[in-house]
Amino acid sequence: MEEQERELQLAEPLIMTMLMTPEMANFSGNVHGGAILKMLDQVAYACATHYSHHYAVTLSVDQVTFNKPVKVGELVTFYAQVNYVGRSTMEVGIKAVAEDIHSRQTRHTNSCYFTMVAVDSDGRPVTVPKLMLDSPKTKARYVAAKLRRQLRIEHDSTMQAIDLKWTDQLDTLSEQEIEDALNAEMENTRE
Ligand code: GDP
Repeated sequence: MEEQERELQLAEPLIMTMLMTPEMANFSGNVHGGAILKMLDQVAYACATHYSHHYAVTLSVDQVTFNKPVKVGELVTFYAQVNYVGRSTMEVGIKAVAEDIHSRQTRHTNSCYFTMVAVDSDGRPVTVPKLMLDSPKTKARYVAAKLRRQLRIEHDSTMQAIDLKWTDQLDTLSEQEIEDALNAEMENTRE
């Protein structure tokens, strides 16, 4: 699809509420991080497919923290929105809010950002509509998503460099170089 032919589309909000059931929980009654991650992935999938009118696959997810536990019996609402689109990629932001059904108290448990790719029935990437930015909020989220995209690229290349040096080319390092690097890292940890 030519750039000028790409239609503009609004990022419609997607909101999904789920009850946290006992099979999702560990022995202390908190929902497993993996169970939450699965729900987040489903929400990201639903949001990206709805926006692109194509199946979507997960390319990456960043910043999922599980430091605010979710309890069995609570309702969790996921607020999702496409924040940014590339040619075939979309960043879907999700905010998760847990609610105690008795007290009705709510708390924001986590936010995260999925990068999804729209694909055709053969699994090949397809062009998605351009994002229509209709408010200061959607514009600000677009800018933030673009900055996160740049950070991901930098992070990926740093990870590759670490992998190259400490895994693929490990044989090229002497025992002394490994010892020195270990001592330097131990020194950093003590500070
Ligand atoms: P933000 O990215 O700085 O706005 O951080 P938030 O934690 O508030 O939200 C994370 C992401 O969840 C946002 O980037 C949006 O994509 C999505 N989101 C947040 N609030 C809402 C909402 O009220 N409705 C919908 N549909 N999505 C939301």
